[in-house]
Amino acid sequence: MSRILIVEDEVHLADGLRFNLEAEGHTVDVEGDGQLALDRLQANRAAYDVVVLDVMLPGRTGFEVVKQLRTAGHYVPVLMLTARSRPADVLQGFEAGADDYLPKPFELQILLARLRGLLRRRQWLQQDHEHEQLVFAGRTLDLEALELRVGDKAYQLTQMECDLLQYLVRNAGRAVSRKSILEEVWDLREDTDTRAIDNFIVRLRRYLEADPTKPKHLLTVRGVGYKFVE
Ligand code: CA
Repeated sequence: MSRILIVEDEVHLADGLRFNLEAEGHTVDVEGDGQLALDRLQANRAAYDVVVLDVMLPGRTGFEVVKQLRTAGHYVPVLMLTARSRPADVLQGFEAGADDYLPKPFELQILLARLRGLLRRRQWLQQDHEHEQLVFAGRTLDLEALELRVGDKAYQLTQMECDLLQYLVRNAGRAVSRKSILEEVWDLREDTDTRAIDNFIVRLRRYLEADPTKPKHLLTVRGVGYKFVE
C-alpha cells in the first residue's frame, strides 16, 4: 500500500490518524515538528507517497514546509489541515504549493477519501499511458503530470495553478471575475480577499509570458478580473 507522513503536533489527532491509516494497510510515520518533517522529507524524496500537513506546528508552519519543498522541486502530494476554513488560509496553503486542504475539525472518512484521491492521481502518473493535454497558444498543459511545456522549457505546476490555468484557457476570450475563480475553480464560497488570486496570476504569467510585465495572453480586465487570449 502507500507510505504516508503525518505532520501534526496534536498527539491525540496524529495517533488517531495513524491508527486508521494503518488499519487500511498503509505504512505511516508521524512527525510533530515542521522543521523535522522538512528534514525528513528532504533526506529521502522517495520515502513517502503523500503527506498530511498541519498548518500550526512548532519548528516551522505547514505553509513554510510546503513552500520549501516546492522551491526545492519536491512535488510529493500534500494535503493541508487548516485550523480554520477561512478562505484566506486556504489560499495561502494553495499559494505555498499544497494540493488539497481540509479544514479542522474534519470527518475521518472525508480525510481518507481525499488521501485516496491524491494517491490515485500519483499511481496513475506512474503508469505509462497517454496524458490528457490542453494545447493553447503554442503551449502544452499536461493535466495529469501538472506540467506546462513552453518551447523546450517545462514548468511543474501545483494542482491549484493547473486548475486555474485550465479554467482561464477553457474560457478563452471571456473575462472571468475573481469571485467566479474562487467559486468555480477552488470551490471557495465565502467572502474573501480576492487579491490572493492576483499572486497566482503573477506566477502563471512567469511561466506563460515572454515578458511577464507586458502580458499578451493572461490579461487583467480592470474592475472585473482576468481574461486569457490565444
Ligand atoms: Ca497544530
